[in-house]
Amino acid sequence: MARQHLVKKSRKEVTCGSCREQLPVASEYRWVQIKTSKYSSRRMNRCMQFKCRFRPSQLTSSKRGEVYAIQEGYDTWKQPLASRRLSLCAA
Ligand SMILES: [Zn+2]
Repeated sequence: MARQHLVKKSRKEVTCGSCREQLPVASEYRWVQIKTSKYSSRRMNRCMQFKCRFRPSQLTSSKRGEVYAIQEGYDTWKQPLASRRLSLCAA
């Protein structure tokens, strides 16, 4: 699991990776560093809205987690499994 960081006061503008909202300087946001391969990683930013919180599948670097993240991005609302996944995340 990747570690979540909480920034109380941003020093530069960040864009939420979920709702795509631009957060002004000095706003509160969360970010994690996700390992994408053995040698590279990528940083994801999120605003403080509940709907934009990180899901467990986004915080793991395993192959399984990557597959989940891709599915969520494309067809969360179409899949009957989506509700099950959401309840898992709320736990
Ligand atoms: Zn957001």
